[in-house]
Amino acid sequence: MIKLGVIGYPLAHSLSPTMHNTALKFKNIEGSYVVLETPEDKLADTIEYMKKQKFRGFNVTIPYKVDIIKFIDEIDNLAKITGAVNAVVISDDGKLKGYNTDISGFINAIPKEKLDNLSGKKATVLGTGGAARAICSALLNADINDLTLYARAPAKGEDLKEILMSNFVGANISIKQLEENIDLSDIAILVNTTPVGMYGKSEGQSPVSESSIATLPVNAIVYDIIYRPKTTKLLEYAQGRNLVTIDGTEMLVLQGAKALEYWIEQEPPVDAMREALNSCFV
Ligand code: NAP
Repeated sequence: MIKLGVIGYPLAHSLSPTMHNTALKFKNIEGSYVVLETPEDKLADTIEYMKKQKFRGFNVTIPYKVDIIKFIDEIDNLAKITGAVNAVVISDDGKLKGYNTDISGFINAIPKEKLDNLSGKKATVLGTGGAARAICSALLNADINDLTLYARAPAKGEDLKEILMSNFVGANISIKQLEENIDLSDIAILVNTTPVGMYGKSEGQSPVSESSIATLPVNAIVYDIIYRPKTTKLLEYAQGRNLVTIDGTEMLVLQGAKALEYWIEQEPPVDAMREALNSCFV
C-alpha cells in the first residue's frame, strides 16, 4: 500500500491526484495520492503527519517549493542548483530526499526542433518563484545565454539571479520590474511562471498586455506553465498573432511522471497519465 500526496495552499486547482491515482491503477499498485492542503503555520505538522503515516513521498506546490528545503535531509544536485524542490521521497526511516522534476518536465515539453533553435537566443521569464527557479536553470542549461526576469518585487528575485549567475558563468542575467507593457522585440521564448491567468480569481487576466505580445518576433514561443485553464489570456494573445504556444499540461504530465518514477522505482505510465489529465479538460 503506497501513500502519496501533494502539499500546497490553496490546492483546489490541483489535477495531480487524477493523474497519479490513474497511474497507480494502471500499474496495479495498491495505494493512493491525496491532497493535503496546508496553510503556512501547518507545514511542519503536515510533514510530520506524512512521516508518521509512512507516506512514500509527496509533491510540493505553490507556495512551498523553496520553504520545503529546510525540512529536507538530502537534496538532489539539480534541485540544489535551483534552490527549489517539487518532489520528495520519504525513506523507511523517515528521511526526506528532495528533487526538482519541474526542470525536465518544462524542457521536455518543448518540441525537440523548437528547443534546438533556442540555443544562443534570448529568453524572458515572468515571475521569480519556485517554478521560475527550475525554468531559468532549464533554459540556461538549454544554452539560452541571455535571460531577463520580470518580477513585481525585483529585490525578491536577487538571490535567484545570484544562484543562476554562479551556476551558469558567462550568461547575461538581469531582473526588471514587471509592468503591463514590456518590450519583447528580441526574445525567442517568453515564459509565464506567475499565477496570473490561473483558474480562480485571476482567470481571464494576463501578466503582460496584448501590446507587449505584439512586440515579439514572428517565430517566438510563448509558454504559459499554467495548466488550468489550458488556454490562458496570455496564450490567447499569442495565438492571435499565430505565435507558437505551449500550455502547462505537458509539463505537468512529465514532471509528475518523473516524480512517480522516484516513488515507485518503475517506469511511469506517461500516456495513461496524459490521458487522465486531458480527460479533466473535456
Ligand atoms: P510561487 O513560488 O508562489 O511563485 C509565483 C511567482 O509569481 C512569484 O514570483 C510571485 O511574486 C509571482 N506572482 C504572484 N502573483 C503575482 C501577480 N499578481 N502579479 C505578478 N506576479 C505575481 O509559485 P510557483 O510554484 O512558482 O507556481 C507558479 C505558477 O506555475 C502556478 O500557477 C502553478 O500552478 C504553475 N505551475 C505549473 C507547473 C506545471 O507543471 N505546468 C509546475 C509548477 C507550477 P512574489 O514573489 O512577489 O509573490
